[in-house]
Amino acid sequence: MNAVTPMMAQYQEIKAQYKDALLFYRMGDFYEMFFDDAAAASAALDIALTKRGKHDGDDIPMCGVPVHAAEGYLLTLIRKGFRVAVCEQMESPAEAKKRGAKSVVHRDVVRLVTPGTLTEESLLEARRHNYLAALSNVRDDWALSWCDISTGVFHVMPLSQARIGAELARLAPSEVLVSDTVEETLREVLGDLGILPTILGRASFDSTGSETRLCGLFGVASLDAFGRFGRVEVSAMGALVDYLDITQKGKLPLLQPPRQDQVTRLMQIDAATRRNLELTHSLNGGRSGSLLSVIDRTVTAGGARLLERRLSSPSRELAVVQARQEAVAWCLDHVEVAQFLRDALKRVPDLDRALSRLGLDRGGPRDLASVRNALEQAERIAGRLADLELPVFLSDASRDLGGHDDLIALLDATLIAEPPLLARDGGFIATGYDEALDEARTLRDEGRSVIARMQADYAAQAGVSALKIKHNNVLGYFIETTATHAEKMLSPPLSETFIHRQTTANQVRFTTVELSEIETKILNAGGEAIAIEKRLFESLKGAVLEQAAEVSLTALALAEFDLACGLADLAASQDWCRPVVDESRAFEITGGRHPVVERALKAQGGAPFIANDCVLMPEDGGAAVQLLTGPNMAGKSTYLRQNALIALLAQMGGYVPATSAHIGLVSQIFSRVGASDDLARGRSTFMVEMVETAAILNQADDRALVILDEIGRGTATYDGLSIAWATLEHLHEVNRVRGLFATHYHELTVLAGKLPGVSNATVAVKEWNGEVIFLHEVRPGAADRSYGVQVAQLAGLPTSVITRARHVLEQLEKGEREKVSPKALIDDLPLFSAVARAPEPVAKAVPSEVEDRLKGLSPDEMTPREALQALYELKGLV
Ligand code: ADP
Repeated sequence: MNAVTPMMAQYQEIKAQYKDALLFYRMGDFYEMFFDDAAAASAALDIALTKRGKHDGDDIPMCGVPVHAAEGYLLTLIRKGFRVAVCEQMESPAEAKKRGAKSVVHRDVVRLVTPGTLTEESLLEARRHNYLAALSNVRDDWALSWCDISTGVFHVMPLSQARIGAELARLAPSEVLVSDTVEETLREVLGDLGILPTILGRASFDSTGSETRLCGLFGVASLDAFGRFGRVEVSAMGALVDYLDITQKGKLPLLQPPRQDQVTRLMQIDAATRRNLELTHSLNGGRSGSLLSVIDRTVTAGGARLLERRLSSPSRELAVVQARQEAVAWCLDHVEVAQFLRDALKRVPDLDRALSRLGLDRGGPRDLASVRNALEQAERIAGRLADLELPVFLSDASRDLGGHDDLIALLDATLIAEPPLLARDGGFIATGYDEALDEARTLRDEGRSVIARMQADYAAQAGVSALKIKHNNVLGYFIETTATHAEKMLSPPLSETFIHRQTTANQVRFTTVELSEIETKILNAGGEAIAIEKRLFESLKGAVLEQAAEVSLTALALAEFDLACGLADLAASQDWCRPVVDESRAFEITGGRHPVVERALKAQGGAPFIANDCVLMPEDGGAAVQLLTGPNMAGKSTYLRQNALIALLAQMGGYVPATSAHIGLVSQIFSRVGASDDLARGRSTFMVEMVETAAILNQADDRALVILDEIGRGTATYDGLSIAWATLEHLHEVNRVRGLFATHYHELTVLAGKLPGVSNATVAVKEWNGEVIFLHEVRPGAADRSYGVQVAQLAGLPTSVITRARHVLEQLEKGEREKVSPKALIDDLPLFSAVARAPEPVAKAVPSEVEDRLKGLSPDEMTPREALQALYELKGLV
């Protein structure tokens, strides 16, 4: 049997158009998947793989998910990297039958679900953006466009090819659209960021077609209305819109007019620095432990998203920074008002996302209620602020809060307090709003009592008290009585009213004209009520969407207030200060702290965090670099990072964890802090470190803040020292940056005397009873020694190894003083095994494996890590 059933033929025709997606093929109450899709989905979802019929003589693999639970399955599939084409039945089986006995129900894909185009609450993280980005290239010009269809934001930015990685890292889009040539050019950049791009055809990026598409979307004759866009920008925006058209099947989301961004207006932070500073994610990939998680005090989803946006893109425009600071300061000065605002904001639902779902026809009554509740609170807030003098930033925002009286009144009058999620089952329009609806509902709800009344009437009329009105699926409503009583009802005059329907073994069933009329009415009433509600839903949705632009401005204004209040709350509760930001090149922090480490220490309830100053005062356009030495675990990395974070928080427009701060605008932050092996990409720690250092030396300008932690550690001592040395000189002479440079190479401290912009600082430790105590205090000067052995002891290395290491160290230091070559020293050192086992030196020990191994080591050419490894190996030999 090779015949293909008509349904399978339809399936294959549709599937052929969506080769790179799983096809969710609607069959009644299930979405079914077949063939390879079924195999892939059943594995990904851990559901049973079954069979359905045969194709070309073979079983057809099949699996399915119930429609009502589909969202959860969709989420899993999207997270696992699938795209899903949702194919619905476009008519009822009855309608199909009318066309011909063997007709298959007409089906079509209504939506292609991809990571960048989600709108469902359950599929999205409320407090995060979900960006879809497109990259375009015309000759040497590049542009990046991005949108979040769940909130409507839409941006475009011209940029150089070199900036692409950094900008993608800033936005962290869920999906990136490129043409095949762009994919080829950027393969490495995208790979580094873990982005698997979606490749679109050239036509999607064609700038002429793009312009037409964009003009159509925004209903304008020319894009000039929104700014002057270059060809490449138009191409990137056009590709986004084309993709939305493909995935949403023509239902375009409510996008705000495109905003043109400029790279130069933001503080530049590259992908590696972002990762190292753990801004929005910690190094282990999670949210907790990130700076964002520690500073987020917002109470609305919109506020949280705005905070993430700000933290990812600190400004480098003084006016912007200061205006934002003013807003936070105002909230701190008006504690009571701020408290009122936060209480009101807590009741604000996610307005942006409700609006976006309504716009895409995926919304329900609950989204209408979200709009109502949010606008009501916005109105309350506007009322509270009415007589107050606000700083520019907040007064601008407050103007966008009100003006929705009519819409609020309409939604208030129509909707019940807590409507259901879906419009499908009705029950969300308030009683008293629509007469026809109320009537239909009364009839439906009171159907039972109407019938009960009729039963009493008929019983009286027939004189049969045992008469009952009953209901079944075959007859609908009917009157039933026992055969004995039925006699008189079967003959006139009663038989004129009671029409005989059926006689069973001992019952006789009747109906009446009146009863069947009521029955139709009751049945229709339910359907009628739902139909009226659906109509009302559509008209309410229309009313909201008509105001979409204003409503989304209100959403942004609410987010601004939430953010300002949140940052003020953070500053007050954590004792943060308002930094002085200006056009100078100062960097002067007193009592600076690392917010994440401080929080962790507090949670552990142990020692308090020690605040530290950091003063970098470059002279006449020169550099100011602090060279930081001190043992491991002393707090060098913490200090380095905390100063970068303070600069970043300041330019985001927030307060900073310090007692005072003066920061001359920083254009770029670079950090090279403890890279981990990138083995998956075939790069060693050292290679990663050098690639990142190269980027810094090539790009940093005299407004950059550079943070380098132990450059050169990943190679042999002299190599590493030389690289660190040359790097420091380059930063000082050529880049002229403000910077912090932590190092193990004490030799570098002599540079402080040679280069005017370099100063020495050390993190203090105290030695006590042969152990180190970390004071975590940064002081001027250089560290005297590394305390590596003491730190190793703290880490729990076996006593024998520690004793031996001390001994080796003593010999090496003595040798250095006496200018003995390390080789000669090693030859002289007594054997480890001998020392460990016999206190007496054994001069004529039999040459052992340990000895041979030791002889082969050249400590000067080993990294500390290799040395430690060697110690372990030696220990293993005894
Ligand atoms: P290093 O880079 O010198 O090896 P880290 O910066 O990693 O040291 O700090 C090691 C640990 O010391 C941190 O995890 C933290 O618990 C603690 N620490 C660092 N700085 C401070 C400080 N200023 N006050 C208190 N504890 C600190």
